[in-house]
Amino acid sequence: MDVLISGASVAGPALAYWLNRHGIRATIVERAEKIRPGGLAVDFRGTAMRVLDQMGILDELRAHATHSGDARVVDADGNQIAIMPGEIFAGELEVLKTDLTRILYDLTKNDTEYVFGDSIATLTQDADGVRVGFERGATRTFDLVIGADGLHSRVRALAFGPKERFTQHMGYAFASFSTDNYLSLDRMGMSHVSGDRSLNVFASKENTELRVLFMFPAQDVPRNREAQEEAIRTAYENVGWEAQSLLARMPAATDFYFDELSQITMPSWSTGRVTLVGDAGYCASPMSGRGTSQALLGAYVLAGELSTQDSHEKALAEYEHALRDYVAAAHELGRQARDSFTIPVSQELFDAFAAADMGEHSPDEVALKNYAARVH
Ligand SMILES: Cc1cc2nc3c(=O)[nH]c(=O)nc-3n(C[C@H](O)[C@H](O)[C@H](O)COP(=O)(O)OP(=O)(O)OC[C@H]3O[C@@H](n4cnc5c(N)ncnc54)[C@H](O)[C@@H]3O)c2cc1C
Repeated sequence: MDVLISGASVAGPALAYWLNRHGIRATIVERAEKIRPGGLAVDFRGTAMRVLDQMGILDELRAHATHSGDARVVDADGNQIAIMPGEIFAGELEVLKTDLTRILYDLTKNDTEYVFGDSIATLTQDADGVRVGFERGATRTFDLVIGADGLHSRVRALAFGPKERFTQHMGYAFASFSTDNYLSLDRMGMSHVSGDRSLNVFASKENTELRVLFMFPAQDVPRNREAQEEAIRTAYENVGWEAQSLLARMPAATDFYFDELSQITMPSWSTGRVTLVGDAGYCASPMSGRGTSQALLGAYVLAGELSTQDSHEKALAEYEHALRDYVAAAHELGRQARDSFTIPVSQELFDAFAAADMGEHSPDEVALKNYAARVH
């Protein structure tokens, strides 16, 4: 089977890894010229931890754990109001996104054909295959095309229709960047909420840096950095605590990241020989804290089904059947987190969030088939 994956972040390389273990070689096309650095921390919970273990990268990831610790929630003058337990935002294991994508790339680069600096431009499918035109490379034909190209997926747009049809904008934007640890935080975070805008900082990279995260109401999300920074400055112009110092540091950041908070809900994740995995098919938004776990579980199940079913139709149907409920629960968590923005901050609120994440009934515990038993 000849498989093309679009996107080399989390879902794409994880899928290539599992396909490879089942004896299927994949090609990955990534728009960026190399694996993209940047992004804040991403975390793993429940079944996703066991998938990482089976991939043989759990120990390496643990060595890169952020050890964020808890976060002190402060008022506009810096007085502590509550403590936000680390497990709310850091799950069972938290690493910088840039470390995760590098580790996944290293894991797969020898057995996967990586094509950087290109993108799918056209898709035409018939009963025998999918003919793919690229922006730069020559046209090729694949048995299956898989969009792992994130919230703004090109594969989804080409095969299923415009993004607007499947997007629920949550009414917020988020932005992140790193700066030096001028607050001298030691393995901990700080958070300030002003109305419906929040500002969070976390010590990272052995306390040498601060990861800064803004989350604020926005309907239209500007696409160029200058306009994005202006939108943040406007949203935080009257916000106290460290907001003004952090805004002043923002233009110098080399890892600035900005996006809308949206969810993707699709009536079906597949159409013919084209399917979606991770944020491309079912983004639950960073508010859910489940984006990376979803991408990993999606990759594991999709590869497993493709290697064990006798047709791609059955495999794609089974992939969706196995994960629909899990994805719906992650979306619900994302919406709950968004709605909690309007609830006044208190210790009781954070303790309730922490308790909700625990136990065997946690939405992060998913019963999955053991495809690894069939590994070649
Ligand atoms: C740079 C970056 C920073 C992020 N930072 C955070 C963060 O701080 N906090 C958080 O919660 N989530 C963040 N996310 C989202 C988070 O990584 C995802 O929710 C999760 O990891 C699911 O991963 P994914 O592989 O499905 O999608 P993504 O991680 O979004 O990856 C999609 C990949 O597809 C590539 N791509 C896009 N369009 C095309 C195209 N036309 N052709 C080829 N390739 C294409 C992108 O360059 C990217 O490498 C970030 C995503 C990116 C890309």
